[in-house]
Amino acid sequence: MNRFELARAASVAEARSLVGEKPGSVLKAGGIDLLDHMKERLVEPPRVVDLKAIPGMDQIAVQADGSLRVGALATLAQVASHGGVAQTHRALAQACGEAASPQIRNVATIGGNVLQRPRCWYYRLESYKCLKKGGDVCFAVGGENRYHVIFGGGPSYAAHPSNAAVALVAFGASFVLEGSKGRRTVAAAEFFTPPSRDPEKENLLEAGEVLTEIQVPAAAGKRSVYDAVRERAAFDWPLVSMAAVLAIDGGVVKDARIVLGAVAPMPWRSLKTEQALVGKALGPEAATAAGRAATVGAAPLSDNAYKVSLLQTLVRRTLLSLA
Ligand SMILES: Cc1cc2nc3c(=O)[nH]c(=O)nc-3n(C[C@H](O)[C@H](O)[C@H](O)COP(=O)(O)OP(=O)(O)OC[C@H]3O[C@@H](n4cnc5c(N)ncnc54)[C@H](O)[C@@H]3O)c2cc1C
Repeated sequence: MNRFELARAASVAEARSLVGEKPGSVLKAGGIDLLDHMKERLVEPPRVVDLKAIPGMDQIAVQADGSLRVGALATLAQVASHGGVAQTHRALAQACGEAASPQIRNVATIGGNVLQRPRCWYYRLESYKCLKKGGDVCFAVGGENRYHVIFGGGPSYAAHPSNAAVALVAFGASFVLEGSKGRRTVAAAEFFTPPSRDPEKENLLEAGEVLTEIQVPAAAGKRSVYDAVRERAAFDWPLVSMAAVLAIDGGVVKDARIVLGAVAPMPWRSLKTEQALVGKALGPEAATAAGRAATVGAAPLSDNAYKVSLLQTLVRRTLLSLA
């Protein structure tokens, strides 16, 4: 790890100014992913700007209309255990509560979770200059690719790692960002970007921009769920995951938003799965059809075709849990 200076910001404005002063400086929230990067020498910042002391940025509030305002510094544990979130936006509480380990969830923030970089082993190894590090090759193609994508790949094939992002896209959340051009709000569904746009980035965050808050619309009358399959029961990223937000009336699905995780370079909204559900009675037949629809168009790599059948099973099983 390089020698670096640690600066503690007391406000978002100060954080932006501190990070802008020295080129290559970085923002730190919980530091879980950032410190991994520094230890692997993937980043060597002259200055690390700690956001953790900024007052109020860890608040979680349920608004009168049922929508949520979640400060970017709220920890995964805080989101998971917040009674209001669990009641109205269960899939978000589940996604945060199933990430990593209890120790990590107590430190890691929801903002850092959605902004964490992919876990691709080629990207994470200093010695591989892959597309994500300005190189000209994705080593997963023709290499070891069992944890990589089955949708939306190319030119890079690393999967998006965030649990929270999957649930947030399913709820139609937005991210509030503060940068040199002022404040902007970007829909989560547009914030995450494909590698064809820029393989070195997974989202629209600009250099020095701070994610301050996540806004989640009300989900009154809707049922939601997040689930995942992992190699280990805990302390691990999903092999496949999904979030479903459904409006069900008289047993029939009136509206559905289905987002798949760990199968694409970004949270992957599956319109085909949604179409397979709307207007159907939510039971074994519709859940099985939705599972099949979820994998239409999948393009597995040499070692990850198992994700196709795993995803079908996950979708069927998870939807039935809502029936
Ligand atoms: C063993 C292990 C298992 C894990 N399992 C899972 C899992 O199952 N699911 C899952 O989703 N994650 C998992 N993780 C990842 C972990 O949840 C993330 O690394 C963590 O949430 C990152 O949050 P943080 O606050 O520590 O972010 P940091 O490491 O501080 O920051 C991450 C990145 O985001 C930037 N950043 C952070 N906050 C802001 C902000 N407010 N504005 C602008 N930029 C910001 C930083 O500059 C950095 O680039 C696991 C991690 C480990 C070590």
